[in-house]
Amino acid sequence: MINRMIAGILPYMPKKLVWIFSKKYISGENMSDAMRESVRLNAEGCSVTLDVLGEHINMLSEAESFKTQYIEVIEQFSSRKILGNISLKPSMFGLLLDKEVCYSNIRDILQVAVKYDNFIRIDMEDSTCTDDEIALYNRLRSEFPNHVGLVLQAYMHRTLGDVKAMMSDPTVSSPLNFRLCKGIYIEDKSIAFKGYQEVRDHYLEDLELMLKNNIYVGIATHDRYLVDQAILLVEKLQIPKERYEFQMLFGVNSNLRRSLVKRGFPMRVYVPFGTHWFSYSTRRLKENPHMVWHILKALFVRG
Ligand SMILES: Cc1cc2nc3c(=O)[nH]c(=O)nc-3n(C[C@H](O)[C@H](O)[C@H](O)COP(=O)(O)OP(=O)(O)OC[C@H]3O[C@@H](n4cnc5c(N)ncnc54)[C@H](O)[C@@H]3O)c2cc1C
Repeated sequence: MINRMIAGILPYMPKKLVWIFSKKYISGENMSDAMRESVRLNAEGCSVTLDVLGEHINMLSEAESFKTQYIEVIEQFSSRKILGNISLKPSMFGLLLDKEVCYSNIRDILQVAVKYDNFIRIDMEDSTCTDDEIALYNRLRSEFPNHVGLVLQAYMHRTLGDVKAMMSDPTVSSPLNFRLCKGIYIEDKSIAFKGYQEVRDHYLEDLELMLKNNIYVGIATHDRYLVDQAILLVEKLQIPKERYEFQMLFGVNSNLRRSLVKRGFPMRVYVPFGTHWFSYSTRRLKENPHMVWHILKALFVRG
């Protein structure tokens, strides 16, 4: 209740104040901030995936500047020899306005990614986007195998079925590459699992199916239980390190991240940057008021 109230009033607070809450989770407003943090994370033994903040555009023309920024990220990664790829949200390329334009925008970025031997991860948004984002992924992966991947959310009832359907789709033969996360949006119980352990159980069920079927998996979680179970699973199935990586968000649970890197597990950090951090932070908080606790903790418990 209190979380919900704080999340509700944050959009009306001064930007400078909200920045104090948000800066732990965002590398900065400029691409140079994201590059600086990427170099630092590479030196710590982590690869990165960069996210230009922004989603749900209202006019198709707004997608252009996002496209330019993503292309520049790929070019800078190459020229500065940074180990990283990009993550993007189809709604910021027009998914909800014109699917064809969205496809063509992301295709333009993918062509640059192929030129520099890079990779694009399509983030998964709320359930109104799931069908379209799966369709977009299938279309792009048939054209650009090995250069595009999708996120799947373990809290969705449909996920195991979606994986099986993509595994057996006779029209697309390119390899599958998923990031598996719990899912961050508030969804109805008719389509999403709600229990904490229930989501974990489905996460492990999805993960096992993926690992057993030669699918590359980004194991995206800060949940120590899931990390431990995932390690047991990759060891039991003897999955080589080229077939999976752990993924964590910038600013979250860096102790767990460092301990995994120290043990030799591949790790990628999701690094958001951009001028849209204010709307991103306030919207995220409204979607998931539990985050308020993490943010308040970040403010008071430094380090
Ligand atoms: C790399 C990456 C990419 C993602 N991409 C997507 C996506 O495309 N679509 C989508 O719906 N969701 C995405 N998510 C979010 C994900 O779905 C979860 O909401 C989020 O990761 C929290 O789940 P958890 O597995 O870490 O478990 P939780 O049970 O939520 O967290 C486990 C523990 O981690 C810590 N923790 C978790 N989050 C935070 C935080 N923000 N601040 C401080 N501590 C925290 C807490 O100590 C908590 O107890 C992504 C997550 C990651 C790591």
